[in-house]
Formats: sequence, C-alpha cells, structure tokens
Amino acid sequence: METDSKGEEGFVKDESFRDSISTISEEGSRNWIYPQKPKGQLYDKRKLVSYAYLVLFFTVPFIKLNGEPLLLLNVLERKFIIFGLIFWPQDLFLAALALLTFMVFIVLFTVVFGRLFCGWVCPQTIFMEMVFRRIEYWIEGDANQQRRLNKQSWNREKITKKTGKLLAFFALSFVIGNFFYSYIIGMDKLIHIITQPFADHVGGFLGMIAFAGVFFFVYTYFREQVCLVVCPYGRLQGVLLDRNSIVVAYDYVRGEPRTKPKKLEDTKAGDCIDCKACVRVCPTGIDIRNGTQLECVNCTACIDACDHIMEEIGKPKGLIRYDSENGIAKGTKLKVTPRIIGYSAVLLLLVVGLSFGISNRSNIETTILRAPGMLFQKVGTDSLSNLYNFKIVNKTHEKMLLKLKLESHRGTIKHIGSVNKLNLIDAGMSEGTFFVTIHRKDIQERKTKITFSIMNGEKLLEKYSTNFLGPAK
Ligand code: SF4
Ligand code: SF4
Repeated sequence: METDSKGEEGFVKDESFRDSISTISEEGSRNWIYPQKPKGQLYDKRKLVSYAYLVLFFTVPFIKLNGEPLLLLNVLERKFIIFGLIFWPQDLFLAALALLTFMVFIVLFTVVFGRLFCGWVCPQTIFMEMVFRRIEYWIEGDANQQRRLNKQSWNREKITKKTGKLLAFFALSFVIGNFFYSYIIGMDKLIHIITQPFADHVGGFLGMIAFAGVFFFVYTYFREQVCLVVCPYGRLQGVLLDRNSIVVAYDYVRGEPRTKPKKLEDTKAGDCIDCKACVRVCPTGIDIRNGTQLECVNCTACIDACDHIMEEIGKPKGLIRYDSENGIAKGTKLKVTPRIIGYSAVLLLLVVGLSFGISNRSNIETTILRAPGMLFQKVGTDSLSNLYNFKIVNKTHEKMLLKLKLESHRGTIKHIGSVNKLNLIDAGMSEGTFFVTIHRKDIQERKTKITFSIMNGEKLLEKYSTNFLGPAK
C-alpha cells in the first residue's frame, strides 16, 4: 500500500489494509509469514527477559515449599497450590476473587501499557519468537533462505534441514509440553509416570503425548494464528486501549509523507523512507504504519528495524516507538485518566479483599450433615440420637489430631468405626459417621439447632451448626 496523506486526526486515509488479513491470501488460504531475523537493542533485552523466563519455567516445578510444589494448577483434581498455599474446591470464593483481581490487573495494565505483556512475557511469544524461531533461523537461515528452501524441490539439503528442524521441534515440544503438564499434575507424579511401566499409567502417558502434540502443532504450523484467532486477550484490545495507552506506534507526524531515498533532499519529506524494513521483521505480517492493529503483539521488532534504518540515514531514532496516540499527535506524556483512577481503585479494593480472605481463611473445611433418610432413634427411656456424616478437609501442611465436641447441648458423640478418621494427615481429607445422643428434655422442637466445636488438641479451629431431629410436638 502506498499512501502519504493524513486523515483528520493524523491517521492515514487509506484504510484498504482493513479489508484483508496479512496471514490469509485472497483465495482464503494461509499466507505463510517469513519474518526477517530481528536485531537491535530491544531484541537483545527481550532475549535476556526470555532467558530469565525460561530458567523460571523449567525450575519452578522442582521447587517445593512445606513439601508441596510452589505452583500447582491441578484442574483435574481441583487442587491448586500457589506459593505453597493450598486451595481446595471449598475455596471457590477466594479462587473467584483471585481470578477477578487478576482480570482487573490485566485490564488496568492494558489500559496504560497496551500489549506489553504479549511482547515481553507471554509464553506463546517467548517460545515462538525466542526459542522455536531462533532454532528455525539457525537451521534454515533468514527469511529469504527459508522462502527459497520451501520453493526448491526435495533434494538432500531440503530433506536434511526439514527433518532436522522437525526432530528438534518435536524434542523441544515434548520437553516444554511435559513441563506444562507438570504444572498440572506435579513434577513428582510426572517423574513417577515416566519411570513406571507404560501399562500402569496409560492415561498419564497419553496426557504427555497430547501436550507434546499440541505444542508441536502450535510452534510448527499454527504459530501467530494463536495470537490472531485464539487468544481472547488480543480480541479485547479494541475495548481496552484508548488514545492514552502506550503501544508500539509509528510517528506519522514525523514520518509522513513517506519519501523514497532519492527524494530525501525534499524539505517537505517525512522521515519514513518507505523501506518496509519494519514490515519485513513483523512476525504477524502487518504494517505498523497503518496504525494500532489487533494483530500487533508489541514484539518491538519493528522498532529495532526502523531505529537501524534511522541510524543509517542519519535521522533520530524512535520513528516507531512505545508511545500513545496522544503522545504522537500532541506530544503529551502518559496521563492519569479517570479511567485509570477508577480501575486502580477497584483493583486496590480487590487486593485488600483478597488479602483479608487469605489471611482469615480457616485451616479446615468442615461439613456435618444428618444421614439422609434417617429419623431420630430413641435411646433408653430418656434420650434421642441422630446419625451424622462428616467430611473434614485439612488445608494445611500440618498433621492434625481433631476432636469433635458438642458445644450447644449436653450429650455424647459416638463414632462408628475408627475414631482415627479424625487423625488428619497434611493436605488431606477425612470422612466418617457418628451418633449424637441428647437428653430428650433438651429437644423441645422437631428441629433443634446444635453446634459442634472442631478442636485440634485444645485449640478451637472451627464451629459448625446443624439440625437435630426430634419428635413432632
Ligand atoms: S522501517 Fe522506518 S523508515 Fe522504513 S518503512 Fe518502516 S517506518 Fe518507514
Ligand atoms: S507491528 Fe511491530 S511490534 Fe507489532 S507485531 Fe509487528 S513487528 Fe511486532
């Protein structure tokens, strides 16, 4: 697209780029993107961030706190451990609050800093651009060499390079996929699956293969489509970004009208020499000079490429840079808008609520219910008894020797089976049944509320109330 005119608000008038997607051809088939290998200051910084990220990613599954993984997101067994704190399904409220806090944080962060997350720390970008793409450059060469290799017939060079790449990609996908899997089932269990006979862990092995297969498909074939079609965060940009959000942006005030190098002496010429270096490095195949687009993952490759060109033609760097629309059009710096203040206030409230919820979270979760379908029983001439089922979850790493005490009435508790069921192991759950017998004169209603104390030694952990059924009046 050639254009050098500005719209009313400084945007380029030619909007024809909106009629198509760079990764889809006019016939509707996939346009394979061959981004040129980026180089520059920001790329070097992103490499450092990615190294730190990869070290964290591969070490966290081995780190334990109080004998539990530092981070475990076991959706299958509905058990979540974050920084050693165990969250059970009973902590649904806290989990929902944590999720809401995270969402508001993402919204606030995006309103201010755009898609900084996507470019610097999103696992998809890190693995695609900083791991798999670099291996591809190493095996197949830069963009033009890859194009040529794909076009040429199957000779020895092509077979060797393609096979080598696919093997390397699969091996890496297997390792990365299994580490992801370990965040769900835990590293101990993963090692157990790997070291035990296949027949004992068919499901576990299938899980490993499924994870590896998905990663192999994504990084070998699907690539930028994850950001363009699948990722919901990318889709939200349209509603989250405003004219004050900091994004990777082209300075059209300085850059337009675009001028080919031979016309550089033209005093009216903008700084953009229309060399398209910024387009050639883009992993999603877009032209950032068209303005902020859904496809831009803020990877900064175009900033580095344009800075390099500016250096070559002796102009100041930053024709493409991190800036807001208002920053480019009016030169205004980051402004604290009412929207930012509003989101920040909500975020603060949520963080306070979440901290309060976590610090006041009970160490156990108790459920005591009358056995279904059972009425009261007469015991001797003067007492009544009810049968109860209990379930107690120990949310801590501490072993507990629990005791049930009838708090509200004089009466007795008689366990059916072993009372040892109240001996709770760390992060474990216990279920059992017991009778409560109360003197008849203390039961005046058909349903009487009774309260239990759940004690750990002499320490009161929780009180729990339920009904005791007596004869109708
Ligand atoms: S790299 Fe810079 S000079 Fe070249 S086309 Fe892009 S914006 Fe213009
Ligand atoms: S436009 Fe620039 S920042 Fe956005 S994805 Fe392309 S190269 Fe990365």
